[in-house]
Amino acid sequence: MICEMCGKDVPVTRPVFIERSKINVCAACAKFGEDAKAGGAPGSAPSAVAIEQRLERRRRRMGTRDAYAGTETVSLVEDYGRVVREARQKRGLDLDEFSDSIGERRGTISRIEANELVPDDKLRKKLERELDITLMETVQASGAVTAKSQGPMTLEDFIKRE
Ligand SMILES: [Zn+2]
Repeated sequence: MICEMCGKDVPVTRPVFIERSKINVCAACAKFGEDAKAGGAPGSAPSAVAIEQRLERRRRRMGTRDAYAGTETVSLVEDYGRVVREARQKRGLDLDEFSDSIGERRGTISRIEANELVPDDKLRKKLERELDITLMETVQASGAVTAKSQGPMTLEDFIKRE
């Protein structure tokens, strides 16, 4: 099951209320919300602690790029499409067979292989798992990479920015 907050694949998720919407999260993220089973209901005022935790998370998230400047950061490899295509072909699967086997639309996979579509976290992890490949790379967040981080936003960036 996928935690709807951090995107981690965990054995169990639990429903909590965060900002009045019910989402399923992992145990680590559950502390940021109000336990749906313990009577936290949509519309109930969040506690001061919950608000503080939320603000803290936001601060941390917004500060991420600066905080990591000069250190390492992990990002999608530039030729992810080729990596996916070659791994698929090595398995002797055509696009139809492969997309069928992982329950995705053929067009989605074909656009990813053409580097036209950046897979979201969930799909990226699925591709990595199914094809036994790695689509993320660690890069030095030096001056040179700063320019790169201002490139086209991926879906992942977009989610992080809310
Ligand atoms: Zn989580």
